[in-house]
Amino acid sequence: MKVTLIPGDGVGIEITDALKEVIAATKAPITWDVQEAGEFVYKEKGTYIPEELYQSLESNKIGIKGPITTPIGTGFRSINVELRKKYDLYANVRPIKNVGTIPSHFSNVDLVIFRENTEDLYAGVEKQISSTEAHSIKIITKEKSERLLRSAFDYAAKNNKEKVTVVTKANIMKLTDGLFLSTVREVAREYPKIQLEEVLVDNMCMQLVMYPEKYGVIATENLYGDILSDLCAGLIGGLGLVPGANLGKDIAIFESVHGSAPDIAGKNLVNPTAMLLTGVMMLRHLNLNKEAQQIEKAIETVLSDSNNYTQDLGGTTTTTEFTKKVVQEIGI
Ligand code: NAD
Repeated sequence: MKVTLIPGDGVGIEITDALKEVIAATKAPITWDVQEAGEFVYKEKGTYIPEELYQSLESNKIGIKGPITTPIGTGFRSINVELRKKYDLYANVRPIKNVGTIPSHFSNVDLVIFRENTEDLYAGVEKQISSTEAHSIKIITKEKSERLLRSAFDYAAKNNKEKVTVVTKANIMKLTDGLFLSTVREVAREYPKIQLEEVLVDNMCMQLVMYPEKYGVIATENLYGDILSDLCAGLIGGLGLVPGANLGKDIAIFESVHGSAPDIAGKNLVNPTAMLLTGVMMLRHLNLNKEAQQIEKAIETVLSDSNNYTQDLGGTTTTTEFTKKVVQEIGI
C-alpha cells in the first residue's frame, strides 16, 4: 500500500523518521511516497505546497503528515487548513487516552473528539473594516454539520458508547450554534440507543478539568474542537501524546495534534508518541489491525517505565532512544 508521507518542518522530520522506523519493524506492507511541504520548499520553489504533493495525495488517497509551521504574513493562511479545505476533510478525529504510567492530572481519560474541520470561524471569511475594526464571519451549514455529527454517532454505535456529548454556545449564538444543535437533534433520532447530551462550551471546559471520565465521544464545531482537544491533551500529559486524523469522503490525512515545536526542533528532544499513535490510527484505517496493535502495545510497555520518558514527560530519553525502545519491544 502506498501512503503519501509529508515530513513537514520543525520537529516533523524527527517524528516521521521515528514513524518510518517503527512501522518498518511491524513489517506492515506500506511503501512511502515522500512529499515535501512547508518552509524549506517555499525557499526552494516559492510555493508551500508543490503540485506533486497534491498529485500524490489524489492518487494514494491516504497521507500522513508531520506538523508544518504556519507562514506569517504571506497571505497563505495555513497549509493544514488548505489541505483540509481542498480535500474536504470534514472530520477531525482526536482520541485522547492515558498512555502507560505517565503522571498526569487524571488516570481515567478515554475519549474521542470529533471536530468539524471545514467551516466555522476557520472558514477564513474576514474583513478589515477600518484600521481599528476587523470582522470574522462564522459559517455553519446544516449539510457540513450533519456529516460530522453522523460520523460521531457512527463511531459511538460501533464502539458501544452510550452517549455523544455535543458542545456549542447555542445560548448566545442562536443562529449558527443553534443550527448545529438542531441538526444534531435530528441526527440523534436515527440512533435511539445512543443518548445525546448537550453541553455549553464554557461549562464543558470546567467539566473536563474536573470529571473527564464522564465523557467518551464529544462532537463539536471547529474552533471549540481545536481548543478542547488541547485542553484534553493537557489532562493526560501533554501534546506529545495525542494523535489525530482528518477524514473526508475519498481522502484521509493523518497528523498528530501538536505543531512544529520550533523551540525543540533538531535537538532530538521531541516525543514521537503522538506521531506513532497517529500511525496506529492510519494502520487501523487501512485494516492493518495486527500491526496497529503491535505498535500500541509496544508504546504502552515503553511508557510504563519512567526511565523511558522524554523531556516533555519529565525524563531524559531522546527521540531516537525512545524510538529504538519501541522498535525493540515490537521485536519481542
Ligand atoms: P506546538 O504544538 O508546536 O508547541 C507547543 C509546546 O508544546 C512547545 O513548547 C513544544 O515544544 C511542545 N510540544 C509540542 N509537541 C511536542 C512533542 N511531540 N514533544 C515534546 N514537546 C512538544 O505549538 P505552537 O508553538 O503554538 O506552534 C508552532 C508552529 O506549528 C506554528 O507555526 C503553528 O501554526 C504550527 N502548528 C502546526 C500544526 C500542524 O501542522 N498540524 C498544528 C499546530 C500548530
